[in-house]
Amino acid sequence: MRKIEVGILGATGMVGQHFVRFLQDHPWFELTWVGASDRSAGKKYRDATSWRLDGAMPSPVADLMVEECKPGNAPRLVFSATDASVATEIEQAFAQAGHVVVSNSRNHRMETDVPLLVPELNPGHLQLIPLQRQRRGWSGQIVTNPNCSTVVLTMALGPLKPFGITRVIATTMQALSGAGYPGVASMDITANVIPFIGGEEEKMQQETQKILGDFRGDRVEPLAARVSAHCNRVPVVDGHTVTVSVELSAKPSEQELIAALRGFTGVPQERQLPSAPAHPVIYMEESNRPQPRRDAGRERGMAAFVGRVRECPALDYKFVALGHNTIRGAAGAAVLNAELMHSEGLLDS
Ligand code: NAP
Repeated sequence: MRKIEVGILGATGMVGQHFVRFLQDHPWFELTWVGASDRSAGKKYRDATSWRLDGAMPSPVADLMVEECKPGNAPRLVFSATDASVATEIEQAFAQAGHVVVSNSRNHRMETDVPLLVPELNPGHLQLIPLQRQRRGWSGQIVTNPNCSTVVLTMALGPLKPFGITRVIATTMQALSGAGYPGVASMDITANVIPFIGGEEEKMQQETQKILGDFRGDRVEPLAARVSAHCNRVPVVDGHTVTVSVELSAKPSEQELIAALRGFTGVPQERQLPSAPAHPVIYMEESNRPQPRRDAGRERGMAAFVGRVRECPALDYKFVALGHNTIRGAAGAAVLNAELMHSEGLLDS
């Protein structure tokens, strides 16, 4: 099969580097184009980028010339990791010019005609695309993936949706890598917890309702659950941990709830999409797991790990969930979105 050429908007940044690494040796996609600001444009990727991930910069990308983030010579499919201050205009310009923009930025996530996708949970939300094109009059499209802590919460809640989710209280312990580079000052975070991440709680609350909502012909009806998030930055390098209490109208038994988590599967697994984990949710029996250092990177960082399901005296059940914030919470999520779109024929011109 001839590979599909892809580009990255914001390729020199932290998330852009995760895209570069995640796309290395991808069976369907070949990275042929990298874009960044005019500070980097005209330089080779190796010269424009301070490579901050473990291991060496993948050699095929090192000699690519960085372009300005303007549509023109970029491939039809572009992943977006541009700075949020410029992502709105850049992504819209690419969609207007006929590109498929698979974005990791927050800018378009909550727009009513833009899918906010977790392919195992809401592949049907891709039906917003024809509406988006019609309303905006563009031949391209924008699809987004959730915030890095929202994806962990929703992957753990998705299997419980058939039990009728009515209330959720989620508390995060979020890794440093989620703050980008250089992130939080070492003097602030060493041996400490920072109980505030700007805008994060609102994003988790609203995005969760949209992702777990139902497509109703021309819109997504948000999940009618009340969701309350507390977000904290902790001195962990990779992996967001979320403790969750949930109220469920069907009042399942603990065994039924664990069976739903264990047995959960979705379209990416049925279609064997290249980046799909074999099991999107992995339930761990050990009373002290999951843990970010030991578990976040398993399954190529694409699964959510859940443990410690038990009764909650305030709501019905409580548990802990974990996911890799820069893989399933960023680059890996967007690549899986593009794989889902390809499997639906949405990347055909
Ligand atoms: P970053 O390291 O600061 O990288 C920003 C990228 O945007 C760089 O490639 C930069 O290019 C480019 N850029 C800046 N100004 C531009 C302009 N005027 N025109 C075109 N490109 C421009 O940021 P990041 O941490 O990777 O985050 C990127 C996006 O992902 C943000 O929207 C962020 O909210 C989102 N996000 C980040 C994380 C995370 O873990 N860090 C997680 C989820 C989502 P130059 O190198 O040329 O300046």
